Amino acid sequence: MNIKTSVIGFPRIGALRELKFAEEKYFRGEITADELKSLAKELRIKHWKLQKNIDFIPSNDFSFYDNLLDAAALFGIVPARYKQLELPVLDTYFATARGYQGEKGDVKALAMKKWFNTNYHYIVPEFEDGTKVELCGTKPFDEFIEAKEAGINTVPTLIGPFTLLKLTRFTGSTTADDIKNELAAAYKAVLAEFSVLGAEWVSLAEPCLVKDLESSDIALFKDVYRTLLADKKVKVLLQTYFGDIRDCAEDVNELAFDGIGIDFTEGAKSLEILKKISGKLIFAGLVNGRNIWRNNYEKTLETIEEIKKTGAKDLVISTSCSLLHVPFTTKNETKLSGDILKHFAFAEEKLTELAELKTILTSGKDCPAFLQNKALFAESRNCADEAVQKRVADITEDMFTRLPAFEEREKVQKEKFGLPLFPTTTIGSFPQTSEVKKNRSQYKKGEISADEYIEFNKRKIKECVELQEKLGLDVLVHGEYERNDMVEYFGENLNGYLFTEKAWVQSYGTRCVKPPVVWGDISRKAPITVEWAKYAASLTQKPVKGMLTGPVTILNWSFPREDISLKESALQIALAIRDEVLDLEKSGIKIIQIDEAALREKLPLRKADWNSGYLDWAIPAFRLVHSGAAADTQIHTHMCYSEFKDIIKAIDDMDADVITFEASRSDLQLLDTLKENDFKTEVGPGVYDIHSPRVPSVEEIENALRKMLSKLDKQKLWVNPDCGLKTRGTEETVKSLENMVKAAKNIRKENRI
Ligand code: GLN
Ligand code: ZN
Repeated sequence: MNIKTSVIGFPRIGALRELKFAEEKYFRGEITADELKSLAKELRIKHWKLQKNIDFIPSNDFSFYDNLLDAAALFGIVPARYKQLELPVLDTYFATARGYQGEKGDVKALAMKKWFNTNYHYIVPEFEDGTKVELCGTKPFDEFIEAKEAGINTVPTLIGPFTLLKLTRFTGSTTADDIKNELAAAYKAVLAEFSVLGAEWVSLAEPCLVKDLESSDIALFKDVYRTLLADKKVKVLLQTYFGDIRDCAEDVNELAFDGIGIDFTEGAKSLEILKKISGKLIFAGLVNGRNIWRNNYEKTLETIEEIKKTGAKDLVISTSCSLLHVPFTTKNETKLSGDILKHFAFAEEKLTELAELKTILTSGKDCPAFLQNKALFAESRNCADEAVQKRVADITEDMFTRLPAFEEREKVQKEKFGLPLFPTTTIGSFPQTSEVKKNRSQYKKGEISADEYIEFNKRKIKECVELQEKLGLDVLVHGEYERNDMVEYFGENLNGYLFTEKAWVQSYGTRCVKPPVVWGDISRKAPITVEWAKYAASLTQKPVKGMLTGPVTILNWSFPREDISLKESALQIALAIRDEVLDLEKSGIKIIQIDEAALREKLPLRKADWNSGYLDWAIPAFRLVHSGAAADTQIHTHMCYSEFKDIIKAIDDMDADVITFEASRSDLQLLDTLKENDFKTEVGPGVYDIHSPRVPSVEEIENALRKMLSKLDKQKLWVNPDCGLKTRGTEETVKSLENMVKAAKNIRKENRI
């Protein structure tokens, strides 16, 4: 068997986020476009050189912002409002990605969405009627030539036409079907050009194929590729990732692809699917591009044995998806010990893994690489906590159900809190001014004492409570001044978590996140939020809402373990947060919000897998957190989106007393869904958008509330912004909340019985 290696994409942001910093300098006008471009080139060449031992090295995986946007721009799918700015090409591109405000005009950015179930966001291309689809850029060719000049032969990679069509928003009457032929012709022109330039392979990424496909989708896919692949002079790799292609394996096999990239880390059915593929080179995604742990060679070899049995003659071992989703290298981690770091493989280390796997497969297991890897997995990571494991094992069925039932609790709570109709509240955080951030960072660096740090936060809490009383809000919060990030903060206060220094992962554009790592069994070290909440409550007669992050969100925004299931980790975190709920309750905090901002994010890409693989542990984990609370403790939850339609029952099943969520675009459809499903939980659909500095008028908020009331039981409606206020300025926040409270009061008058 001939074995080769392949990488789907490499993190372009740089080992120390060099690209981010350069782009931000460019945006501030501190460097020129040429300076930015030359740094980008330097990074690309550096990254290709790191991959020199790989057989299939990608080019055009680089992007100044986003690869899908690159593909749209390459084929002329750019709305007129950006072209009309008449900016240089690079600036037009940045205008689509980030908006433009300057002497040439004022245009908002294109929309941004989560890339499948990752934490990366793509820019949503927009197709306007009358747009001419044609090859009108040179980026992929330029980068291919650039690599060649540096002595590296690459496989140019592009997002494929099917995925581009599926993810593009068509704003007029034109449909994907209307432009499929032109688009296929434009991709054909790309292949032709690459053949002239001497490329052997071109890779087209079609992650949309791993989703549920309708027959019309499959027809579209086949139509485009039949045209595209006819008479081609280069080999074409159909690259899929994030799951398996169970809906279209036969169709894929019929088409003239030369190679197929299949994900064996996430594709539950990939082995079965392989049996339907013949005569194509298989690129097997075996090195996980989405997690940070070392590859277990023994297990990978077992999978390869299974792959061989399906008749594959040659094999390319590949990453499971682009390495964009993992940090760059472990080399810059100075604070974690070698004993820990040896279990990690970031992008650079994954390159070594691919090379080692190739060596093992060609020369046998009797080599240091295999033996060391085997020893590593045989070794205990010293991360077990038997007490935690026992606690999880001892969870009984009744711990997933809070008693009494919702209806009874609702009565008890209405009585106890005596809140007005349409109670007003906020989602938790108040503006994080530079002094708030400075206080935290000075404390972290040891520049101020713990007392000074606490005193400062107390002063802020006091100001915040006074402000909320003055505004006339009904349920107050302490303001979250102690938190950098809603997951990192809890992670830092839990046993079992590790933190990195430089393990950044691109989230969108120049924004990167540094997810904490679940290393071991998780437990709470000590009460986390209780003192802050207690202090806030001591300053007012009004109820103060305790503020926690839920287990599913904590887990979804971390790098999870691979040696135990997600369910197991979620239950461990749930028990830790449960303890915090009970401690808050004990110290007199009777309204507690448990944020699940990221609950929807990791829903499996296929509906068939929702209940068997995710919601069946995610919802119980949340229920476990609050089932111990008394009837007269009110549990809130918050979510940063309103796409509930398809999981509405699961959301109601979380059995919270109140849920607040984003709905500032007055999503009436969602209100209909709530109504149709007899949604029992009280709801606070956000009445204004906190993602912009705009101050909503009283009238506008009243109108939003009237719309909501036309669909919802008035006893169940809460009034709040659509998310936390931490990214906002103080002035606009005060004005917006003033208007919100006024609007609620006016609507109360209208609805007085
Ligand atoms: N309680 C958090 C806050 O207000 C919620 C943040 C979020 O939903 N992303 O900041
Ligand atoms: Zn939110």
